[in-house]
Amino acid sequence: MLPERIEEWTGRTVVCFGAHPDDDLHAAGTFARLVAAGNAVHLVMYTDDDKGSLDRSMTSARLTQIRRREQESAARALGIPPENLHWLGHGDGELEYVDRRALCREAAALLRRLRPDAVFSFDPGTHWEQWHKSDHRSAAQNTLDAIRAARWHLYFPEFLEAGLEPYEVPVCFFFESREPDYFVDIEATLAQKIEAFCAHVSQFGRRLYKYEPELHAEDRAAFDTAIRDYTASVGAPHGLAFAEAFRRLTDP
Ligand SMILES: [Zn+2]
Repeated sequence: MLPERIEEWTGRTVVCFGAHPDDDLHAAGTFARLVAAGNAVHLVMYTDDDKGSLDRSMTSARLTQIRRREQESAARALGIPPENLHWLGHGDGELEYVDRRALCREAAALLRRLRPDAVFSFDPGTHWEQWHKSDHRSAAQNTLDAIRAARWHLYFPEFLEAGLEPYEVPVCFFFESREPDYFVDIEATLAQKIEAFCAHVSQFGRRLYKYEPELHAEDRAAFDTAIRDYTASVGAPHGLAFAEAFRRLTDP
C-alpha cells in the first residue's frame, strides 16, 4: 500500500516529465528528499531547450550540449545519477508540432518500462501553461495521455511483444498548479534545490545574454534569496518553513 504522504516512501520509483531541463526544479526539494530516503528519481526532458539563449553567438547544437551538462550537474546536486536522465531530444518550443501519437508512444513506453509509483509534471490547468508556454502545456497533456496509454493493453499493442506490460500509475503530482492541495516540507533539502537551480548557469542573469560557464557570486546570492523567499511563502500558510506545492491526483 502506497502511503499518502510521500515523505514516508522508501524503495519507490518516481518519474518527472518536464518540457525542458530545469522544469523539474519545481519539485527539486521533494526529489532530494525522496533520493535521501532510498527512492529512485528519474527525469524525462521532452526537449533539449536548444533555443533558450539570447546570446547571438550561441548555436542550438552548442546550447544542447551546455543544457545537457547543466542538467546533469543539477541532478547530481539532488542525488540523481546521469543514467536516470531520459532525453527525448525534441526541439525547444516545438513540442506541439511533434506527431502526437509518436510523442505519446515515447512517454508511454518509458512508463511501462520504469513503472513509477508516481508521476510528476506540470499542471495543464494554469493560466500560464494554457496561454503562454506551449511546451509546458504540451508536456502536461502528453504525459496524461501517456499515462492512459500505459494502462490499457490495446494501446500500442507492439509493446506487449517487446515485454512492456500494461502499467497503472497510482498517483500524479502536478507542479505550477492553480489548485495546490499537497505541500511537502523541503527545509532539509533547500540547499540542494538552490544548488540545482544554480547549475543552470546559461539560463539566468547576464549569462542568458552572454554565455559563460560560471555563475557570478551576485547571481548566486540573488537566487538563494529568491528561492528561500518563495518556498517560505509557499510553506507559511501550512506551518512549514520552506515547502513545495503540488496538486495531487489519484486514479489519473
Ligand atoms: Zn520549461
